[in-house]
Amino acid sequence: MGVLKRYGEFLPVTAKTPAVNLEEGSTPLVRLDRIGSDLGVELWGKLEGCNPSGSFKDRGMVLAVAKALEDGARALVCASTGNTSASAAAYAAHVGVPCYVLLPSGKVAMGKLAQALIYGARVIAVDGNFDRTLEMAREASNERGFAIVNSVNPYRLISQRTGAWEVCEFLGGAPDLHVIPVGNAGNISAYWAGYVEFRDRGKSSSLPRMMGFQAEGAAPLVTGRPCPNPETVATAIRIGNPVSAHLARAAVAESGGEFLSVPDDEILDAQRVLAAKGGIFAEPASCITLAGLMKLKREGRLGEGLRVVMVLTGNGLKDPDAALSQVGKPLSIGGTMEELMEALRP
Ligand SMILES: *Cc1c(COP(=O)(O)O)cnc(C)c1O
Repeated sequence: MGVLKRYGEFLPVTAKTPAVNLEEGSTPLVRLDRIGSDLGVELWGKLEGCNPSGSFKDRGMVLAVAKALEDGARALVCASTGNTSASAAAYAAHVGVPCYVLLPSGKVAMGKLAQALIYGARVIAVDGNFDRTLEMAREASNERGFAIVNSVNPYRLISQRTGAWEVCEFLGGAPDLHVIPVGNAGNISAYWAGYVEFRDRGKSSSLPRMMGFQAEGAAPLVTGRPCPNPETVATAIRIGNPVSAHLARAAVAESGGEFLSVPDDEILDAQRVLAAKGGIFAEPASCITLAGLMKLKREGRLGEGLRVVMVLTGNGLKDPDAALSQVGKPLSIGGTMEELMEALRP
């Protein structure tokens, strides 16, 4: 069941809103006991890579696109580090409206670029970073009257709250600690709003502490000032001037959480641990959650026995280059059984 159907009563959906549905949401929440026992916590991973376009962006995009159609938009436009464009392009194709995608040239993971193109979006590579391409997309939407579907579109964050509701319904309440990557800072804000709303409606009895993780080379919320040249292997969070910074700061302050930065090598290390000890292949930006928990554990700051949910925001298959950069090559043998038996030795 897509999120407009599952959570329509809590969303601004009316009789006039088209019932857009790619069966997004209702993603698995998987208990990761091997990694959890190393960390001394009860660890859960929310597999947002199982959404139709392979990232959590679909949760918000479905409502943004439904509302754009309801308002008579002729086309969609977005700027993207990759996943927003993949999602926008998928929904545009599904409902049959044109979609213009502005990407910072050379900085988008291969799988995401392939997605936007195969879904039939008009992809424009801009010689500038993400923050610049977003300014340009906003101007283009004003000039042409296209619907902008970046997280500046309020419907995106409204509908992304569904992730928190699913967690609460599955676990029977909020976790103690919620950890999440922070790029443009929309998702952390949406999860917090979702947890607060469910608490206020009496559907959960507590609120989690919110921890937002950023890559060291793109950590404006940790340093407290915009980062003019963001750089990180986690391209989905390579953002120097987050649009929803104020909301994210409020979420962290109100929940008693914090922002923390993690270097790229620890992000990649966590990606390998998540795959090899959890059976989950998530893209680097997602794996910063585990990297951050490992850092907290090392510093003796991760409470024993906590129930922790980490949002694994995107599928690892989107960025195979990042994974291949840190693993060995397959063992090559000739076609004889002798060689195979040799290779099978422990
Ligand atoms: C968009 C994205 C993020 C960052 O989310 P924000 O809402 O921009 O903070 C993290 N991980 C992945 C995989 C993403 O696509």
